[in-house]
Amino acid sequence: MTSENGHGHGNGNGSALPMLTKKDFSSDQETRWCPGCGDYAILATVQSLMPELGVPPEKTVFVSGIGCAGRFVYYMDTYGVHGIHGRAPALATGLATARPYRGVFLTEKGRALAQRVRLRHRLVVDVLRALGVSSEAAEADAEGIEHYVSEHTLKAFAQFLRSQR
Ligand code: SF4
Repeated sequence: MTSENGHGHGNGNGSALPMLTKKDFSSDQETRWCPGCGDYAILATVQSLMPELGVPPEKTVFVSGIGCAGRFVYYMDTYGVHGIHGRAPALATGLATARPYRGVFLTEKGRALAQRVRLRHRLVVDVLRALGVSSEAAEADAEGIEHYVSEHTLKAFAQFLRSQR
């Protein structure tokens, strides 16, 4: 929510936004941390800092993971994503690189990784098929095997497949 009390004050970055205050970044949600929790100090500091950045709440997203600190996003009067364990940086990176009106897409690095994962999956499936496993079972079992099979074994799989041709 943008402050109505600025009346023409600048925000320090030359734009015509009204002056923002800590209140503009503070939601009406009751904070539910233990008394004395350090999260209170972090929240208060961030809410105080945000007006200095000159970016309005409606153009701001906070991303959190799980745990007590994950509730941080509810206490900021901005957009917020309460994400999953250990994935806040990935979610935030996705948000920062998202392109409006475009669906999910892979970065160059992501595409290369996806191709490696696909090849690994195909290799395991092909070995299982060569051993007589049904297509359905091979696909299902490869989903598990491909996650822990070693590079050494994968090389042996590839060698085995070549010997079958
Ligand atoms: S991190 Fe969670 S459990 Fe620990 S003091 Fe804060 S609110 Fe309480």
